[in-house]
Amino acid sequence: MVLERAREPLRLTDVPRPEPGPGQVAIDVRACAVCRTDLHIVDGELTEPKLPLVPGHQIAGEVAGGGERFEAGRRVGVPWLGWTDGTCRYCTSGRENLCDTARFTGYDIDGGYAEHVVVDERFCFPLPDEYDDIQVAPLLCAGLIGYRTLRFAGDAERLGIYGFGAAASIITQVALHQGRRVFAFTRAGDDAAQAFARELGAEWAGDSLGPPPEELDGALVFAPVGELVPAALRAVAEGATVVCGGIHMSDIPAMPYELLWGERVLRSVANLTRADAEEFLELAPRVPVRTEVETFPLEQANEALDRLRSGNLRGSAVLLL
Ligand SMILES: [Zn+2]
Ligand SMILES: [Zn+2]
Repeated sequence: MVLERAREPLRLTDVPRPEPGPGQVAIDVRACAVCRTDLHIVDGELTEPKLPLVPGHQIAGEVAGGGERFEAGRRVGVPWLGWTDGTCRYCTSGRENLCDTARFTGYDIDGGYAEHVVVDERFCFPLPDEYDDIQVAPLLCAGLIGYRTLRFAGDAERLGIYGFGAAASIITQVALHQGRRVFAFTRAGDDAAQAFARELGAEWAGDSLGPPPEELDGALVFAPVGELVPAALRAVAEGATVVCGGIHMSDIPAMPYELLWGERVLRSVANLTRADAEEFLELAPRVPVRTEVETFPLEQANEALDRLRSGNLRGSAVLLL
């Protein structure tokens, strides 16, 4: 499924099968979860994809050949971070997620909305045996970047989560496992999302612009909506951190300094490191994190994206090959 131009539907197209070069591995894709970032790319909000582009960066598949790291038949996952230079000041200080010349799967590199993909073998991961391909795919971005987002909230006990999609549903389970209390914020009147959050163990679910039942110790903002930033700052206690986990967000409205005062911290999370992936893929089966998925055949990728755009999905959409 190929994006030829932003704001146009993907097209089912036959393209030459990609061949691995040195250090690369060819993967037969089994499942690819749909991420909100894919939507930002298709909708032209992330403005510099390679074109034409095969999107998709939550890939579960089987090694078909190439490289030296994996035997053929090994099950691996491919996330958003697809290549780094290893030499810039970020890479050499444990922050490869910020690499000056990083390349991203399904953005700079063709991704997993396809039968086959070729990727740098250093940026794939063996997948935990506890999960099948469909269940594991959403862990590869919603899980990994969600987990990095959670880490930046420190040891917050009363945790607010804004936007209850795939990342929130996964991270709620991790947060509860860590002994935190979860408060879920959704669009006003989104009863389905609020019920979903409560089923997963959130002790309260309500309107994202309203006050929580008690002061929070930290907040994660997964919805790409700038007006949630002052709302979250208003909901947290002094000294708390509000972490924005998405790659794109509408403008943040002007707000009084008073909302940030009291040593509140506002920060974003960018991409992931390979260490994040290793840590989370080891932790997920111990929680155990369960993913809620709705599957679509590859050729229905546009329908899957439409469902995500309209907020009419429970958990993650996963494309099946
Ligand atoms: Zn670098
Ligand atoms: Zn993603």
